[in-house]
Amino acid sequence: MSGTLMPDLTLDLTAAEHARILAKSALFDPPPAQLADGRRELVGLSRAELAAEVAAIGEAPFRAKQIWHWIHHRGVTDFSRMSSIARPLQQKLAERFVIGRPDAVTVQTSEDDTRKFLFRFRDGQEAETVYIPDREEDRGAVCISSQVGCTLSCRFCHTGTQLLTRNLGAAEIVGQFMAARDAYGEWPSPTGEAPRLLSTIVLMGMGEPLYNYANVAKAMTIAMDNEGIALSRRRITLSTSGVVPMMDRAGAELGVNLAVSLHAVRDELRDELVPLNRKYPIAELIAACRRYPGASNARRITFEYVMLKGVNDSQADARELVRLIAGIPAKVNLIPFNPWPGSPYETSSNSAIDRFAKIVMDAGFASPVRSPRGRDILAACGQLRTESRRDHPLAAAPGCTPPAQRC
Ligand code: SAH
Ligand code: SF4
Repeated sequence: MSGTLMPDLTLDLTAAEHARILAKSALFDPPPAQLADGRRELVGLSRAELAAEVAAIGEAPFRAKQIWHWIHHRGVTDFSRMSSIARPLQQKLAERFVIGRPDAVTVQTSEDDTRKFLFRFRDGQEAETVYIPDREEDRGAVCISSQVGCTLSCRFCHTGTQLLTRNLGAAEIVGQFMAARDAYGEWPSPTGEAPRLLSTIVLMGMGEPLYNYANVAKAMTIAMDNEGIALSRRRITLSTSGVVPMMDRAGAELGVNLAVSLHAVRDELRDELVPLNRKYPIAELIAACRRYPGASNARRITFEYVMLKGVNDSQADARELVRLIAGIPAKVNLIPFNPWPGSPYETSSNSAIDRFAKIVMDAGFASPVRSPRGRDILAACGQLRTESRRDHPLAAAPGCTPPAQRC
């Protein structure tokens, strides 16, 4: 009897945990995607939602397919450029809908060509997006934010010093990528294996994507749609600080690559560096990685490990790391700490990083050292932060209380 009860109980608990996390993140949902004049935003709608909007104005279903193509494949923001649609319908659409982009308030280009966009959304909230071109080839990664601020306050992260203002909506998340594509003129969407300048999305900007799962999932589903942006799931990497219950779900539903911000191999230290560890400790996190759907030698899980001088960079730490991840198809990205104004840590020395990398590599895991990009414009990992502040009535909600009690 108990044999049949136990799995059900586990499933119930997981479902309850999902529901709790989703309900909590809904408290920080973005404002409705409707303008003051009543027009509705079409970016960020799923195919089914777009079809429903089109049906609601009495138009045939094939119109939704056409509009989807113009928005997501061609990158058009103006209905009058939809040449397969007759002018009267173009006008009708323009009276009811908009195809928006976040406003690029500032755009900074680093000496290494990394480009950082400060985007402002309709309610004035802001987030940063970074394009990191490959050094050798004509391709690059777009590092996208999922939240304005973050609840999690990892000790080494600049974003973590900015309280969570709100979640970004699906339109705002996929809109960062679309606006970056505008800036580089990459429309229509390249198809098949055609080279892309903006070739990958990394959800490694501001915020914890798995604490805004619904919007992130919707945005990535839009980006992956074959008749639109058509980015393969292999070209999307979601980075999490370890929201264990949502990891399985992201794997099953989205199947994107997973990056896990590990940063420490003992709970005592990880509790301090990544306070979420107090809720989901290392053993649970590693177990979730072991069962992550779709992980294989061809699609390895990336463990991110920030190198902090004298804190987590010893050879004993490296040996414990390889023991922890033994058997997982994985690689370890070593990230030299990127300092920010007032940051409490120093970057490990090159020799400490090399020693650490060698131990990991000798154990059979690739251990690339991520060379810092865009540091001069504060665009590197963990340096993003905006001036947006919370004026949310739930300022004292659980999950947004002082650091020691967060998560
Ligand atoms: N919230 C998610 C994704 C955003 S952070 C997460 O934490 O995974 C992207 C990566 O940059 C994470 O691995 C994060 O731990 C790392 N990072 C944060 N601050 C950093 C810093 N100052 N220097 C180097 N890496 C940092
Ligand atoms: Fe948030 Fe990630 Fe920064 Fe931690 S490292 S504070 S989870 S953005």
